[in-house]
Amino acid sequence: SEKRSLNFIEEIVEEDIRNGKNGGKVFTRFPPEPNGYLHIGHAKSICLNFGLAQEYGGQTNLRFDDTNPVTEETEYVESIKADVKWLGFTWANELYASDYFDLLYAFALNLIQKGLAYVDDSSPEEIAAQKGTPTEPGTPKQYRSRSVEENERLFKEMHDGKYPDGAKVLRAKADLASPNMHMRDPLMYRIKHAHHHRTGNKWCIYPMYDFAHGQSDSIENITHSLCTLEFIPHRELYNWFIEKLEIFPSQQYEFARLNITYTVMSKRKLLQLVNQKFVSGWDDPRMPTISGLRRRGYTAASIRDFCDRIGVAKRENLIDYSLLEFCIREELNKTAWRRMAVLDPVKVVITNYPEGQEEMLHGKNNPEAEGGEGSRDIPFSRELYIEREDFMENAPKKFFRLGPGLMVRLKNAYIIQCEDFVKDENGQITEIRCSYIPESKSGQDTSGINVKGTIHWVSVPHAKTAEVRLYDRLFTAEDMGSAEGNFEDLINPQSLTAVTAFIEPDLTQAEIGRGYQFIRKGYFCLDPDSTSGNLVFNRTVTLKDTWAK
Ligand code: ATP
Ligand code: MG
Ligand code: MG
Repeated sequence: SEKRSLNFIEEIVEEDIRNGKNGGKVFTRFPPEPNGYLHIGHAKSICLNFGLAQEYGGQTNLRFDDTNPVTEETEYVESIKADVKWLGFTWANELYASDYFDLLYAFALNLIQKGLAYVDDSSPEEIAAQKGTPTEPGTPKQYRSRSVEENERLFKEMHDGKYPDGAKVLRAKADLASPNMHMRDPLMYRIKHAHHHRTGNKWCIYPMYDFAHGQSDSIENITHSLCTLEFIPHRELYNWFIEKLEIFPSQQYEFARLNITYTVMSKRKLLQLVNQKFVSGWDDPRMPTISGLRRRGYTAASIRDFCDRIGVAKRENLIDYSLLEFCIREELNKTAWRRMAVLDPVKVVITNYPEGQEEMLHGKNNPEAEGGEGSRDIPFSRELYIEREDFMENAPKKFFRLGPGLMVRLKNAYIIQCEDFVKDENGQITEIRCSYIPESKSGQDTSGINVKGTIHWVSVPHAKTAEVRLYDRLFTAEDMGSAEGNFEDLINPQSLTAVTAFIEPDLTQAEIGRGYQFIRKGYFCLDPDSTSGNLVFNRTVTLKDTWAK
């Protein structure tokens, strides 16, 4: 198969391998903070990290970045593991940054002993003021010149719970004059008397991101630590800690985060949508979460394909939601089983089909697949439902469906011709009367009649009902990147429409996880809300891109 060109990270890796760096090893990690469900942006990072290790014979750790005790929950840990597995990846080790708390504490003492860290009693405001501005250097306070012994004693007391939250912090003694504000004596530890989902009440001091992430990478011998662009200014500090601690030299590389039109891509904002009930939960089919996309009918392969197509770049950009839809449509066109469902029904009576008679017709499950993957039975009778939009009283010339005198083929069945129709007092069509051509049965048509249009239908006495949920974009604004807080004004009121549809009886056998094409209506999947008496289908995507400009 044709190989695409290398992305910039693969180029770095290949260069490192050529130079024998790290013994040619490629160890990566995916480091989610367990404070929400994974979204499609995380899928990009997952595909990148796991894909790179697979490509170069390495391995990938799943590391929960659980250094913040307040926002983290076990429910999130479980959902993250399930989603990574579902996407098709296997981690070498399941690890938790909190497992390194003892080691990180020892690292901090090591820096104190080297005179490279000190305990500061200043308030957050005082510390911010001390740091100066990007154009003016910071000003040291007396705490910066505390002795090693005093720092050691105070830090141990912080650890032992002697001080309340916020009373003291541990800071790196780096460079108060650095042009990089992150180097101006950044915080390493803060006091937080809080319960942690794994370590319980053992700790009342917690390391900051900058003093946990790089150290965790190093402990795990991660060779290529991939993160998003906003961490570029953290890289200098990442390297500084590793150098001063004299530990394994992991290296950080940054790539552009994924942004998609008409949606938000941040756990904080997604949590807000859940909490304020704009959606039914993290797995609402309108959510850009992995669990939402799965429930919507997306497959793991389609998401991996999407991540492959968007590639890895060094510049932020906004990807069109239609590309995601393109990827699932491509797959479902090849795999979905064809079925018939009428979403907006009007009744057709076949006047020359004997009353009380019925017959069993057949339709291939998947005409795109070799052998059609078998077929299903489709009952036919004198009364059918068709889509209301497939009939026009005054049809224009190129309307190849039903109207007075017009002929159309019923999918997998016969050609019919409209003879008459019935309207109620409001002018609404209530019944269309047709005759059928007995010799025109699909597969054995000897009628010699050619019709241009084919429409779907469901036999009235055999029809089952289902709730069908039709989705549209969650937001009305294309670029939601800077949207904060007030989602009310930006939510698309048409993002979910539910209709009761008539479905062919075979659809009562539908299975969760399988894609169905409701002929002419789009790709659908069974929703877990379904019960045997009340089926629910989600529209995954329409058959064609209705958003093309
Ligand atoms: P969020 O803002 O959604 O909370 P985060 O970066 O804080 O995202 P983490 O749990 O820390 O979430 O993310 C785990 C990994 O996934 C990180 O390496 C992060 O860079 C990456 N990641 C998160 N969002 C995106 C995105 N939109 N595109 C690409 N990678 C992402
Ligand atoms: Mg993070
Ligand atoms: Mg975050």
